[in-house]
Amino acid sequence: MVDKVEKSEAEWREELSDEQFWVCRQKGTEPAFTGVYHDCKEDGLYRCSACGNALFMSDHKYDSGSGWPSFWEPVTPDAVKTQTDGSHGMIRTEVLCGACGSHLGHLFNDGPRDKTGLRYCINSVSLDLDKE
Ligand SMILES: [Zn+2]
Repeated sequence: MVDKVEKSEAEWREELSDEQFWVCRQKGTEPAFTGVYHDCKEDGLYRCSACGNALFMSDHKYDSGSGWPSFWEPVTPDAVKTQTDGSHGMIRTEVLCGACGSHLGHLFNDGPRDKTGLRYCINSVSLDLDKE
């Protein structure tokens, strides 16, 4: 089970950098190909940059060509949660941290066909690589 992390937006504002606060708490999106992890091939466990919750394994990361870190599955089913996002005139599935509810990115159905067929498209800003 994932332990829930609950903080007020004022507390997050204090703890996070401006960029983290914008992406994680205000659902911003970093520009493609600018994040530190989109082209990262190092082994390790990607954690939530806001709360440290384990999210994705480097073994499940692949190069989607999108310019954002992409994974075909989370480390455990409850590591992340999803909800419908109707912003920007599109219906998309938003991916949130299962522990603290921070915005991570979006989920698409164009992932690797030989795996889950899913693409978790995640902002580098929302991730913190715990190298093995
Ligand atoms: Zn979190």
